Amino acid sequence: MTDKTTTLTELKKHIQDFSDARGWRKNENAKDLVMALTVEAAELAEIFMWLHSDEVDSIKENPETFEHTQEELADVFWYLCRICEHFDIDISKAVENKTEKNAKKYPIKE
Ligand SMILES: [Mg+2]
Repeated sequence: MTDKTTTLTELKKHIQDFSDARGWRKNENAKDLVMALTVEAAELAEIFMWLHSDEVDSIKENPETFEHTQEELADVFWYLCRICEHFDIDISKAVENKTEKNAKKYPIKE
């Protein structure tokens, strides 16, 4: 599974199927999913917490730290997808709509 070979729909289904197989979606609620997303985002931030801004990009040179970063990003994405599924939100449409709003709010300066 890679970004080049996997559609967003396939990835969301992969997450749903994994969660369904473990019964995780039976008792899910939006509050818990949002809390989980927040915790995972904090776990991602923790990796960078005490690094000087000059050091941040060097995490890619440490295989263990880089792998940990990828895992936390996957966890964040995981809960983002589950929240979208819970509310039946089309994230592609939401991003498009937000981009249109941002384009009006932050016009390109000529
Ligand atoms: Mg995590």
